[in-house]
Amino acid sequence: MNRERLIDRLDASSEPWDIVVVGGGATGLGAAVDAAARGYRTLLLEQSDFAKATSSRSTKLVHGGVRYLEQLNFSLVSEALRERGLLYENAPHLVSNLGFVVPRFKWWEGPFYGVGLKLYDALAGSENLTPSRGLDREATIAAIPNVEQDGLQGGVMYHDAQFDDARMAMTLALTAADLWPGKGWNFVFGQASLRDRVGVWSLYRNGDPDKDKASYQLCLKRTIKTAVHETGHMFSILHCTAWECCMNGSNTREESDRHPLWFCPECNAKVCWATRVDPVPRYRKTVEVCKKLGFEEERAFYEKSLARLAE
Ligand SMILES: Cc1cc2nc3c(=O)[nH]c(=O)nc-3n(C[C@H](O)[C@H](O)[C@H](O)COP(=O)(O)OP(=O)(O)OC[C@H]3O[C@@H](n4cnc5c(N)ncnc54)[C@H](O)[C@@H]3O)c2cc1C
Ligand SMILES: [Zn+2]
Ligand SMILES: [Zn+2]
Repeated sequence: MNRERLIDRLDASSEPWDIVVVGGGATGLGAAVDAAARGYRTLLLEQSDFAKATSSRSTKLVHGGVRYLEQLNFSLVSEALRERGLLYENAPHLVSNLGFVVPRFKWWEGPFYGVGLKLYDALAGSENLTPSRGLDREATIAAIPNVEQDGLQGGVMYHDAQFDDARMAMTLALTAADLWPGKGWNFVFGQASLRDRVGVWSLYRNGDPDKDKASYQLCLKRTIKTAVHETGHMFSILHCTAWECCMNGSNTREESDRHPLWFCPECNAKVCWATRVDPVPRYRKTVEVCKKLGFEEERAFYEKSLARLAE
């Protein structure tokens, strides 16, 4: 992964990206691997270095979530233990088995931690790392020489997995860059030089609005369509299957470009009812907006609708 070469390739690429991930921490890198593995043309931009921020400052535990056991969240603990097991099996170069000792000072702490951690072992099933066990006072002091010895009765030892965060981040970055759909399709950046960072502060998601008038209108129309569609969902309107309508679901950009900007009578009636809006004055205003923006097709539609409503 040569940064300069990647940037040159980025400059030379004119195809739009399916997915742009901003930030190369654990979350962004994982998302990029997932997206690239599904065949999306994926770009990941990191302004500084991979796993530079929070992802290099954690406790680095691939924990099975022992603390969630205390909250009796068994399904979360099971899921986390399963992930821990998979990572331990698939990437032993990134993960290691780490023992923890919980010292005991009160009589009830032995059975309390003992039973809890046996349950933890049991939830891990065949993917358990090393069974937890009770330690006597001497063994506890041998394991933690600087433990408070006053009143110390013993300890409980359990095991979890720890990972190498930098190595994990780089493995994810390289995996995302290597994945299908084709040579040179997925780009991963990071390791910004101080002089030449790739931080992201804005994105053209719907096309380049500065190119020409048609591109500007297309960009604006796409943006409005998304806003209208998602607002419809906020009013509990599901994807419309009966009419040509802005609430139609779509799988691709091409498909959503074919959908109209307006609502069908059914969805429109629902939204007018939910928002207590009278369609006539609203359509009049919309006609004015369409005139201003040069949306001819939409203006004609709303004028026709007004004529119908006046009948
Ligand atoms: C003290 C502590 C202990 C933890 N212990 C554990 C643990 O033991 N096990 C565990 O699984 N999790 C643990 N976590 C949680 C885990 O560390 C975080 O959930 C994870 O690292 C978050 O990753 P991230 O990618 O979301 O964020 P980050 O790692 O912060 O990544 C965000 C990245 O985005 C980049 N960025 C931001 N803005 C831009 C921009 N405009 N353009 C380009 N790039 C940008 C930044 O440079 C950064 O690299 C712990 C967290 C903390 C704080
Ligand atoms: Zn939708
Ligand atoms: Zn509809």
